[in-house]
Amino acid sequence: MTTERFDTEATAPIEFGGDPAAATERWPGGVLGADDIALISGVCATSLDPTDTAEHARDWWPLAMSWALANQVPRRPSVVCRPRDTGEVSRLLALCNERGIPVTASGGRSGVCGAAIPSHGGVALDMCAMQGVGDIDTVSGIVEVLSGTFGPDLERTVRARGLTVGHYPQSFDISTVGGWIACRGAGQFSTRYGKIEDMVHGLEAVLADGTVIRTGGAPAGAVGPDLDHLLLGSEGTLAVITRAWLRAHPLPEVERRGAYSFTDFPTGIEACRRIIRSGATPAVLRLYDGTESKRSHGGDGTVSTLLVLDEGTEALVDATMSTVHDTATACGAVTADVGLVERWMHHRNDTSGLQALTRKGYVIDTMEVTAPWSRLDAIDEQVKTAMLSVPHARSASCHLSHSYIDGACLYFTFAASPPPEAFDDTHRSMWDAGQRAALAAGANLSHHHGVGHNRARYMAEALGTSLGVLRALKSALDPRGILNPGKLGL
Ligand SMILES: Cc1cc2nc3c(=O)[nH]c(=O)nc-3n(C[C@H](O)[C@H](O)[C@H](O)COP(=O)(O)OP(=O)(O)OC[C@H]3O[C@@H](n4cnc5c(N)ncnc54)[C@H](O)[C@@H]3O)c2cc1C
Repeated sequence: MTTERFDTEATAPIEFGGDPAAATERWPGGVLGADDIALISGVCATSLDPTDTAEHARDWWPLAMSWALANQVPRRPSVVCRPRDTGEVSRLLALCNERGIPVTASGGRSGVCGAAIPSHGGVALDMCAMQGVGDIDTVSGIVEVLSGTFGPDLERTVRARGLTVGHYPQSFDISTVGGWIACRGAGQFSTRYGKIEDMVHGLEAVLADGTVIRTGGAPAGAVGPDLDHLLLGSEGTLAVITRAWLRAHPLPEVERRGAYSFTDFPTGIEACRRIIRSGATPAVLRLYDGTESKRSHGGDGTVSTLLVLDEGTEALVDATMSTVHDTATACGAVTADVGLVERWMHHRNDTSGLQALTRKGYVIDTMEVTAPWSRLDAIDEQVKTAMLSVPHARSASCHLSHSYIDGACLYFTFAASPPPEAFDDTHRSMWDAGQRAALAAGANLSHHHGVGHNRARYMAEALGTSLGVLRALKSALDPRGILNPGKLGL
């Protein structure tokens, strides 16, 4: 593999209320002894620096962000490990498995559910020393990439070869390929390019005992269950992903944009349903409810704005945009200022807002779920009603993004302004109310943020008896339970 290596650091550091080196733990526990640390240090680069361990004690889970402002972290790892290749990952896991040491992999630590928090201490396995792009098969559109590679480095490198992977999460700048795969992420252009699971051609990963495996590697297959999908969404609990082969598309020839205004959110949802069911798949199809439309685009709080963007070959894009226009107007929409799309494009990767609001004392968080088209109206209504019934709740709003032939993702943003002593309980209650209302109305547990720590408590409700299958897989692949213990409800 001829690899172009990178050395990028996450560009949006997390804010602490004091010196992170002095941060105290919310979930204190045992630490590794000097003998374990000495053995681990013999395998790969390690750090015991207290600022480093504090930075690896948390991710972008909003509750942990509020704790950080009080200079607290959930749980420090004893040591941060930075392997530089698959062999080092393998030797490290074999050692930790033998000695029963917990290992929590992390990439950009941009996850919003606490998945990368080393909640049982032990080793924080920082994959960001494994950054680079290897072979690019430009004929087939397959790119080999190390799992610690950040979005901009990957995309810049493949674009220089006339390709795009097309995966642009809002956290593009601060998240890694391994994190995208481990959380089954979705980019903002997913309606054309798919979610990350549609982009994975093959994977290299290391099991808990140090065994290196390769999965996938073909355009399609009938060789038993798809093992790529065993690792996709496994959140570091079944294996550590070291390398991926991703599908890439030719760079788009043209781009077209459109904006529409609907009388209300349900009418807009119906238009999106008809657009997608007709076979049109514009890269971006984002419909905002009255509250979010008013906040971002003006209006009276009932009008619902639809932003559309497509890219690709001219004939395909023109046909798609014409289907969008005809369908939207048939549903009573009027065209809106197309400049709204530019405004969204400009701000779409701005990740600064979340912590600023947390600093002001607001509970602020997001909850994304997916469901069949026929259930979306009820889910929208019932989730908002449930969230707003929680004491101190201030707002609950929604937009639709990421559409599929059978349904779409609803993305809720909620806020509350509790007194400081009720902050954590209010956060938990709004989640409980919203997530349980969503499940009861026919939604799944998550569309792309994953489960992590925050949603582990709903896994039995969401999966029913199939959670037993996941647990059996965990026991088979990681019998000593060293890989990211406490996550995914395992
Ligand atoms: C402002 C903001 C906007 C966001 N927008 C989006 C969005 O548009 N779409 C989206 O999908 N997500 C979004 N997210 C969530 C987050 O960025 C994604 O979940 C992302 O994929 C996480 O990548 P990461 O490298 O930061 O992983 P981390 O947060 O470091 O880790 C997440 C999980 O993956 C595991 N993991 C990481 N690397 C590996 C590996 N190599 N092998 C095995 N397990 C591993 C960790 O153990 C953990 O369980 C957003 C987050 C923020 C803060």
